[in-house]
Amino acid sequence: MKKILTCTTLLLATMFCAAQKTILHCGRLVDVKTEQLLTERSIFVENGKITGVVEGYAPAGPDDQLIDLKDRTVMPGLIDMHVHLVTESSRSGTLEKYTLNPADHAYRSVLHAERTLLAGFTTVRDLGGNNGVNISLRNAINKNLIKGPRVYTAGKSIATTGGHADPTNGYRRDLTTDPGPEDGVVNGPEECAKAVRQRYKEGSDLIKITASGGVLSMAKSADNPQFTEDEVRAIVATAKDYGFRVAAHAHGAEGMKRAIRAGVNSIEHGTYMDDEAIQLFKKHGTYLVPTITAGKSTADSAAIPGYYPEMVTAKALVVGPHIQNTFAKAYQAGVKIAFGTDAGVFPHGKNWIEFVYMHEAGMPALAAIKAATWYAADLLGTTDIMGAIETGKLADIIAVDGNPVDDIYSMGRVKFVMKGGVVYLRD
Ligand SMILES: [Zn+2]
Repeated sequence: MKKILTCTTLLLATMFCAAQKTILHCGRLVDVKTEQLLTERSIFVENGKITGVVEGYAPAGPDDQLIDLKDRTVMPGLIDMHVHLVTESSRSGTLEKYTLNPADHAYRSVLHAERTLLAGFTTVRDLGGNNGVNISLRNAINKNLIKGPRVYTAGKSIATTGGHADPTNGYRRDLTTDPGPEDGVVNGPEECAKAVRQRYKEGSDLIKITASGGVLSMAKSADNPQFTEDEVRAIVATAKDYGFRVAAHAHGAEGMKRAIRAGVNSIEHGTYMDDEAIQLFKKHGTYLVPTITAGKSTADSAAIPGYYPEMVTAKALVVGPHIQNTFAKAYQAGVKIAFGTDAGVFPHGKNWIEFVYMHEAGMPALAAIKAATWYAADLLGTTDIMGAIETGKLADIIAVDGNPVDDIYSMGRVKFVMKGGVVYLRD
């Protein structure tokens, strides 16, 4: 009898251990859905999920883990809808296209992913990289081999020949090739469909296209339209078959309008958005992912002699400074905004600076946090599991020092990061 009792006790203890409860005492808690700052709340976390949120500081049992965040502002894990985890801008970027192997990029991306997570970004949408490194990175994070945010990746971006994401842009004639759908380069609706199916085969989570010219590619225009509307329609229709959402890079108004009419889910950058484009955004419910930081940082880098090739410098100086004004105009007009930075164009881990720029352009702090949590999850299609601190969601929770409502720079002082109930940073 005694033996049986001991076994039962052990079994119970094991079960209790597996279901150990963590209680977070939060001095301030951002309710992103109502854009309100609540005070003195407790969050319960069990098995990686949020199991309750209550008023006051709930007492902890002897087996509970208590985390004291009474002097912090607690909010859902942040979501950056536009990063490139594999690469990071540097003065030697052009040369590195010829000197680095995919394995070199892979090791670097491990560092980028960890820095991003420790900056409070528990989820990112990775909008393009070469050689499948971003897909392997996502898999390694999912298997807990390395530390990083949850990654939803486009794999290789899709462009037309000579377009922004044609990987052979700027190569001298004997080095260049004629890449096809497998490498994310397409011409005509049939190749568009094939390129989307190729992404499915490789394990992408979503589709990214470059609907207009861009700044950092070795090509003359930053804003010319680079897909026909029929081509984008073929992309969107095929993407739907595979459960993919479509993100479209666009600086120029014409490329942007074609992409919105053809049904993409988000426009990235949106720099030269005109009134007609704004009306289309609103009519189709398309999200704008602003990436103000990309604009500012490329303009800053372009001011350093020799940082970029001449062709890129010229574009960066013209395009970069526009993005914050475009964001202000779009926000005032009621365009849906999801937070995104283009990190990789500037150092990973500095994603939070976007909050400062959004705030500067007229968006209240809690609205910007909502764009980086609830609305980002909405664009990702994952509001069932993330984007708010409520029962049933994944325990992706962060805390910052200070109050972002009074001081937006507090978004850069992340002191606590929990992803899926696991604590990665506790200061
Ligand atoms: Zn980008």
